[in-house]
Amino acid sequence: MSAPEMSPSIQQEVARLAGMPELRAAFSRFRREESQFAQWQMEVSRVPAPPFGESARSEWLADRFQELGLGCVQTDDVGNVFAVSPGYGQRYISISAHIDTVFPATTPLNIRQQGSRLYGPGVSDNGAGIAAMLAVASVLRSAEIVHTLPFVFIGNVGEEGEGDLRGMRHVFQTQHWADRIAYSVIVDGAGSDTVVAEALGSRRFEVIARGPGGHSWSDFGTPSPIIALARAIQSLSETPVPASPKTTFNVGVIRGGTSVNSIPESASMRVDLRSTSMAEIDRLERAMRVSLDHAVDAENLPAAARNPRRAQTVQCEIVEIGNRPAGELAPDALLLKVIRAVDAQLGNTAQVQRASTDANIPLSLGREAIAIGGGGAGGGAHTLQEWFDCNGRDLGLRRILLTMLALSAVGE
Ligand SMILES: [Zn+2]
Repeated sequence: MSAPEMSPSIQQEVARLAGMPELRAAFSRFRREESQFAQWQMEVSRVPAPPFGESARSEWLADRFQELGLGCVQTDDVGNVFAVSPGYGQRYISISAHIDTVFPATTPLNIRQQGSRLYGPGVSDNGAGIAAMLAVASVLRSAEIVHTLPFVFIGNVGEEGEGDLRGMRHVFQTQHWADRIAYSVIVDGAGSDTVVAEALGSRRFEVIARGPGGHSWSDFGTPSPIIALARAIQSLSETPVPASPKTTFNVGVIRGGTSVNSIPESASMRVDLRSTSMAEIDRLERAMRVSLDHAVDAENLPAAARNPRRAQTVQCEIVEIGNRPAGELAPDALLLKVIRAVDAQLGNTAQVQRASTDANIPLSLGREAIAIGGGGAGGGAHTLQEWFDCNGRDLGLRRILLTMLALSAVGE
């Protein structure tokens, strides 16, 4: 079947599914059982899950998967939790939600409800995604919905910041899942109005400059790591970047020095390079490296000229601390047709967006993947004032379930 012919049949299939009695029952459960979903969401948000410290939350999730009667519940060696709803094919549809937060272990997790709103760190990102995944698993079983392709539910670690997508990377480095997951539906945060089908790539570095240090008066002229970095930042900041493909750079953290009257022995900075194009990221990385080389040379030159034999120098070390591959869903991808048909069926309007999510990993491997919200509305992500509004959550849940069932029906 050629691509243009497929969409009307997908639309028909989505309409047929949505009209089935089991689906109608599931949709009404999504409304009726809202208080249970909010309960799970608050409960999971109270379990700390800082980057590289998600094990308590992995355990919590594995217990919920067990309670819901899902099969093959297991946790892999990085802390990703899996559960299966069996079907008939070899290829799986995955639904995943990252379980990590950006908040350090010491953050007070004051999670509370006021009316339809939930408040507290991580309650939306990704409490909303985890709650949506559990809601879908729960209703799938209670409404006794049969699906063709099997589903794998994944609570994955390491999506945020320096987690660098390590959880999802590990899923796709595991032969068993890499061979089987054909379609990935990633639930991240709140909302029903977006489809992330394009993976924003990023590369991050920690740059450490080291020098001999010294007294600000008696050792004046000794090369300074702080000044070397400042020179490099100045030059990096003048690097031209195209508006399209959108490309950005940021020096987000700078540290260093000992005291006001010391020539520093070390200084460091953290640099974030982003683009929708891997070629632009490569170009920016080269520009950053050239800026650093020139900055170090310029900083070392006067001391070398004074004492060519025993010149004291500043040196730079560049450590890659993050690398998220770019990629995108082909315009004729089945997953894109399915979500569009689902949105049309539900009367929902959504925009295709580009972002950095767990979908970067399957997309960069040429697999079909999208990231969508868990319904409702949210705000204040990555702050202590984070909130989630449960109103309209059921639209997001219907959207996820219908997408998975339609994929399962037409994706073999
Ligand atoms: Zn998130």
